[in-house]
Amino acid sequence: MSCLFCKIIKQEIPATIVYEDESIIAFEDVNPQAPVHVMVIPRKHISTTLEITDDDNELIGKMYQAASKIAKERKVADSGFRLVMNCNKDAGQTVFHIHLHMLAGRPMNWPPG
Ligand code: AMP
Ligand code: ZN
Repeated sequence: MSCLFCKIIKQEIPATIVYEDESIIAFEDVNPQAPVHVMVIPRKHISTTLEITDDDNELIGKMYQAASKIAKERKVADSGFRLVMNCNKDAGQTVFHIHLHMLAGRPMNWPPG
């Protein structure tokens, strides 16, 4: 499988890992769009949000918990942060292994561009 994020999970490609447990890893985005920009991903390969099944519901919840834990550690929980999961072309998804963007450290625009 040629999935970039699976390669990061298998440590075939380097990444700055900021959190990991049995089901999730999180690492610094290589092209940060905010002072804090972390990728939170499941170890399980799921291509898009459209492939999430009932079996994954606990896993998806854990992704949000991990993102919130990182926000607290980075001292941006109170100032605020944005969690984004893009799906397919119009949303700008470029890596087809689901990931939660955790963005913080500056005011965010709404609606997003
Ligand atoms: P998306 O456009 O929602 O699919 O987001 C993919 C994200 O992965 C982008 O923010 C990229 O900067 C990030 N990214 C791509 N390659 C790497 C990498 N090798 N290490 C860390 N982040 C990456
Ligand atoms: Zn993958």
